Amino acid sequence: MNSKSEKRLPSSVEVHMPICFECYKDGIQTELKYQKSTSTLMSVNEFYDEGGVLHHHDPNVHSVYYKCDKGHELILLEKPVCGVCGWPDD
Ligand SMILES: [Zn+2]
Ligand SMILES: [Zn+2]
Repeated sequence: MNSKSEKRLPSSVEVHMPICFECYKDGIQTELKYQKSTSTLMSVNEFYDEGGVLHHHDPNVHSVYYKCDKGHELILLEKPVCGVCGWPDD
C-alpha cells in the first residue's frame, strides 16, 4: 500500500509566491497573482492574561483570492493564530 494523501510541492517552489495547482498538473508553473481578501465579520477578542500578556484571538476566517494568467482561481483560507497561546489550536 503506497497511498499519498498529502499534496506537496517540490521544495524549490515552496518559498515563492503560490503557483497554480491546475497549471502545475499540466506541467507548467504559473504564478498566482493576489486579487483580494475578505474576512468574516466577527469581533476580535483581545485581552491580557494573568501575566499581563496581550492575547489577540481573531475568530475570523480570511479568504485570500488568487488568479493565474490562465484564469484559474484559488482561494486560500487563513485562520489567525494567537502568537501567545496558540489559540485556537492550543
Ligand atoms: Zn492556472
Ligand atoms: Zn491567546
